[in-house]
Amino acid sequence: MATVEQVELCCSECKVTFWVTAAHEAKLVRKRQTFYCPNGHGQWFPGKTDAQRAKEAEAALQREREAAAEERRLHHEERRRLEHLARGRQSLITKLRRAKGGPL
Ligand SMILES: [Zn+2]
Repeated sequence: MATVEQVELCCSECKVTFWVTAAHEAKLVRKRQTFYCPNGHGQWFPGKTDAQRAKEAEAALQREREAAAEERRLHHEERRRLEHLARGRQSLITKLRRAKGGPL
């Protein structure tokens, strides 16, 4: 005879205990569906559904991608600024050398 695993639940309202199959409990937890104790009190497992967690994880990933893109943009700007300063400095050195009649 096949055995079906049962899970004991307790109503949060009237404290009556009742049993559901483990598979059914897993579905209730996963989907956050409302279910009822034998006395008719609505119950649900609080928390987020897998779909909500997936959506939030995707949103967090998108924020990280945007932050990384912004960081790359700032690094690029800083690099251009430093290259500009280096060119200006080199140009000034060349001008000073020429003014002194030194080697180029
Ligand atoms: Zn109840």
